[in-house]
Amino acid sequence: MGRAPSLSRRLFRAVLAFALAGIVTFSLVIAGICYASLERDAAARLAGEAQRAARLLDGLPVGEQEAMLAGQLDDAVRITLVAPDGAVLFDSATASQDLGGLPSHADRPEVRAALESGEGAAVRRSDTQGGDTVYAAAALADGSVVRLAETRESLVAFFLDGLVAPLAAALVIAAVLVLVLSRLLTRSLMRPLDQLDAARPLEGEAYAEMVPLLARIDSQQRTLRAQNEELARAESLRRDFSANVSHEMKTPLQVIAGYAELMANGMVPPGDVARFSGVIYEESQAMRALIDDVLTLSRLDEQGAGTAQAPVDLAGAAARAARRLAKPAADAGVSVEVDAEGPAMVRGSEALIEQMAYNLVDNAVRYNHPGGEVRVTVRLEDAAGAEAGAGARDGAGAAGAGGEDGEARAASGPVAVLMVDDTGPGIPPQAREKVFERFFRLDKSRSKETGGTGLGLAIVKHVALTHGGSVSAGDAPGGGTRLTVRLPAIAPGAE
Ligand code: ATP
Ligand code: MG
Repeated sequence: MGRAPSLSRRLFRAVLAFALAGIVTFSLVIAGICYASLERDAAARLAGEAQRAARLLDGLPVGEQEAMLAGQLDDAVRITLVAPDGAVLFDSATASQDLGGLPSHADRPEVRAALESGEGAAVRRSDTQGGDTVYAAAALADGSVVRLAETRESLVAFFLDGLVAPLAAALVIAAVLVLVLSRLLTRSLMRPLDQLDAARPLEGEAYAEMVPLLARIDSQQRTLRAQNEELARAESLRRDFSANVSHEMKTPLQVIAGYAELMANGMVPPGDVARFSGVIYEESQAMRALIDDVLTLSRLDEQGAGTAQAPVDLAGAAARAARRLAKPAADAGVSVEVDAEGPAMVRGSEALIEQMAYNLVDNAVRYNHPGGEVRVTVRLEDAAGAEAGAGARDGAGAAGAGGEDGEARAASGPVAVLMVDDTGPGIPPQAREKVFERFFRLDKSRSKETGGTGLGLAIVKHVALTHGGSVSAGDAPGGGTRLTVRLPAIAPGAE
């Protein structure tokens, strides 16, 4: 992996580049402006001086003009006196004996202009000196022309001479300032990032540009937290479950061991042997039922939704469960009626779904009174759940697949509904969620009496959830309890 790029270094480079470009551009522009204005001033001054020289020369007789000009000598300004015919009468840059060798100056633009209008100016590049020569000419009264010439350094020379040193100093200062500035900038830019709480990325200030990323991190964190909580919850449930199973096993085992010991030691009168054996048999049956339930639950825990996905008729399963319970129901004096218009196909495990119906009918028979009734209803609801939503949802306790969104998920297609109504004492509203917990019994002593261990409804809930459905406890229309299971159904004719 390459070295990670440093934000502060990048910022430093960018800010420095911008600052340098700005400083250089700025100084070039300023230099240009200064140079232009200096040049303009210089040209005007030279023109004024040419006029003054012309007026001065006007008052002098011809012979004395050259002498006067010779006395005016100034190194920086070259003075030339041109006769009306263009012959050079005097030139401060040429010895007087060489004047005859100079060409006629009549065609020089500034001289020509002065001859025509009284004054003239021109700028010529002089290659030899690497600068510009500025000429200003003024006509005398007698028609000759006095011309002043001044050579000035070029823009580059002007720039190099006067501006390079301050510019270099400015660049050094700028670099230092930029270094400090980019440090501060980096720090202030990084502050929201430094203060980011990876566990809660959306709290605290963040750049708008970062929000999508943070939102993703946040949702992943949430998922992770939820998964961890779920794991912890499952772990604690499992621990409770094992403890409860051991506890529930102890009671029948103690009874069995106690009675068996008495019998083994010959301490049971022959007349009581049948009764004692009967107790042992009943307790072992209770243990077997408990073990069956525990095995069912742990199989569900392990396989979860991976149970068989064959089409199952919920109505058929409910009818079979009711038939299996016909004898206990008759013994308890409770009538059981199954009401199904036709098959209600769901996808899942036939054995588990029948077991679920069995546990519900079993409760409805068991927590009932002699002469009571149990009514099992199975029907299909359409996607909107229009048919009997109210009846199915009046329960205070509902256990839906995947928590709160269970209802929404169940409503997205046809739903098979199983309702088991009884005429028993009912389940008080505050217990309507608890009854689905493992080993929960409303009335421990009464439930014991009826042989329950508190696992029946836990299995019902587990089966409903692993089949993508929900279960809830509520009131039956004629008093008593209504247990409702809703499972996603296969649309009739879809298969
Ligand atoms: P088992 O594991 O043998 O089914 P159980 O019947 O006690 O034991 P669940 O079926 O889970 O356990 O029921 C939990 C408790 O809910 C019961 O003990 C009972 O108090 C209450 N309960 C369940 N169904 C009904 C019902 N139809 N009417 C009244 N109370 C009920
Ligand atoms: Mg039960």
